Amino acid sequence: MSADDRKNDKHKAAMQKQKAKVDARIEQAATERGVAVLLTGNGKGKSSSAFGMVLRALGYGQKVGVVQFIKGQQLSGEEIYLRDHCPQVAFYQMGTGFTWNTQDRSGDIAAAEATWEKALPMLQDPSFDLVVLDEMTYMLAYKYLDEEKVLDAIRNRPPEQSVVVTGRGGGSALQEIMDTVSEVKEVKHAFKAGVKARQGVDF
Ligand code: ATP
Ligand code: MG
Repeated sequence: MSADDRKNDKHKAAMQKQKAKVDARIEQAATERGVAVLLTGNGKGKSSSAFGMVLRALGYGQKVGVVQFIKGQQLSGEEIYLRDHCPQVAFYQMGTGFTWNTQDRSGDIAAAEATWEKALPMLQDPSFDLVVLDEMTYMLAYKYLDEEKVLDAIRNRPPEQSVVVTGRGGGSALQEIMDTVSEVKEVKHAFKAGVKARQGVDF
């Protein structure tokens, strides 16, 4: 047997072992239900990942709702695309811009509450397959929304519905009730090297 053959055999055996492990795990994951996903952390990629799932769901003709909790003044490509090409997507934006721009706490709270009033019916409607609550963690961090109310709505949503929450932090109670929690770690970000936010990449 040549050295190459030995390498190939070894690789094949390793792959077979790996496949058996993966198959066993797939076999174990037998529960069919919607999942709650939290995308958090300081790195770039939380909202864009959420919109990746929107695209996936739309590919299967699923019903999608998107509620954005802070970005109102900066138009984004995903907003433009969904509004122009996906009228079936229920899209709502808080629309007051970033908090450090408004500096108006009671105004922010009213806007957060009004936005929550759009999100809640989606979380209660079994016809929605996927609901994205973009930048929602900040509403909890600033205590603009009552945490128990929000967690209850996520917990009690229709069993087949998936929900994606994005934003830094969010707190341990939120993490506790979510099925999947991913923290996007910042290794570096172009902005810190003075590169301007880029159309199609950052917004
Ligand atoms: P994205 O929408 O690109 O997935 P995100 O949702 O992970 O980003 P946000 O904090 O919501 O992160 O960021 C919104 C905007 O800020 C985007 O333009 C993004 O590129 C930029 N951004 C994200 N992370 C950082 C960072 N660590 N430093 C500077 N800008 C950032
Ligand atoms: Mg974001």
